[in-house]
Amino acid sequence: MKTTISTCPTCLEKIPARLFEREGRVYLSKTCASHGETEALVADDASLHWNAGPEGSKGCCSLNHSCTLIFEITERCNLTCPTCFTASSPEQSWMMPLAELEAKLDRLIAAGKGAADMIQLSGGEPTVHPELVDMVELAFAKGIRKVYVNTNGIRLARDVELVRRLAAVDGGRDRLQFYLQLDGFEERTHQLIRGAKGLSPVKRQAIHNLGEHGLFALPVMTVTRGVNLEEIGAVVRMVVEHHPRMNTVILQPAFYAGRYDNDRSAQRLTLSEVAREVARQTNGMFSPEDFGPIPCSHPSCFALAVGLVRDGKVIPVSRYFPKFSTWKDPAVAPTIERFTDRMPQHMLEALAEDNLLDELLDLLSQGDDTASWADYRSFVLVGIKPFMDAHTYDQDRVDRCCVHVVDRSGAPVSLCEYNTLRRPRGLL
Ligand code: SF4
Ligand code: SF4
Repeated sequence: MKTTISTCPTCLEKIPARLFEREGRVYLSKTCASHGETEALVADDASLHWNAGPEGSKGCCSLNHSCTLIFEITERCNLTCPTCFTASSPEQSWMMPLAELEAKLDRLIAAGKGAADMIQLSGGEPTVHPELVDMVELAFAKGIRKVYVNTNGIRLARDVELVRRLAAVDGGRDRLQFYLQLDGFEERTHQLIRGAKGLSPVKRQAIHNLGEHGLFALPVMTVTRGVNLEEIGAVVRMVVEHHPRMNTVILQPAFYAGRYDNDRSAQRLTLSEVAREVARQTNGMFSPEDFGPIPCSHPSCFALAVGLVRDGKVIPVSRYFPKFSTWKDPAVAPTIERFTDRMPQHMLEALAEDNLLDELLDLLSQGDDTASWADYRSFVLVGIKPFMDAHTYDQDRVDRCCVHVVDRSGAPVSLCEYNTLRRPRGLL
């Protein structure tokens, strides 16, 4: 299908690699001079794999653009998850000082990165940082439009005063949202993925506390075979049930980096299998074909299905979006360009604000009162995010990456590149 540059999973040397299809599945194969040949599954269904070579490494995420800038504000965490790619734990103590965040933000904004417009505060567990509230306030004061906090939710469940303070900074403007780690509801799931007991009620309490204070939670599910694959449907249904206070769920097939660099990589889940499982476990709320890439980052890097929710029912609308194979068609290209301009920053608002929703509804031929739908909260989104590791590393994807972690020197680096090659190894 193409050649690219990948990494040897043993020595991390960059080496040539070949992406190819065999019996309807897509693999990445490479040979290290010292460690021999390795092969990794990239998609278990080639019809749900969207590919691009180096010539596709342009577009909205070319030079100096980041859709998301991630600041890892602490190494400390109140969990020690076996799956943690940052290898965080209560043993770690490093916290980013507020002044360091300010200096990094100033430098990035001066370098034109302010257009990212959206940052994530991550870790470790950012809610254990004593200056989290000040950091959110600082980001808004610097003109950042949206701040996401990537959290396991434990502190949000137990410390209502912290939730109240965060809500006060947001001021009811939906500018502060929470990517909430939520791997399912079974006790066994949390024990195996997070190494902790009794987390399910804690997650529910965190959702409750956020909702009570008018704050958005966006569940993020790490999915692994033999553990919580069968819980995908329950998590997606929970999001629909909580709509509109919850309207996005991100499904992340586990990847094998940091503390989770282990032999289970041979059983990895891929984007295509997760898309099929969403369809199967939600009784067709979405079909696998409702998932497609977005015109941002590399097409293999994210797949999205969008539904409109009305009276508790989901109407899958992304099946009406132009298919990836047509994006270069002159009749379709202008629409894709408009998505490209607007979607990376605030996908849902862009849909609602830019007449795209009207076009979509025309397509749907509802002949309905569209005005009441013209709000981004009318939608529910199911995203599948297949991060890469040393087995699946594809330089074409990294070159077009728009999810950048701000490294210790303040430079934005592709998150997959950082995790695979550049994260300080001392902790691992
Ligand atoms: S995965 Fe998240 S919650 Fe778990 S140890 Fe790492 S930082 Fe903490
Ligand atoms: S972080 Fe990884 S998966 Fe996400 S856009 Fe960048 S290269 Fe792709």
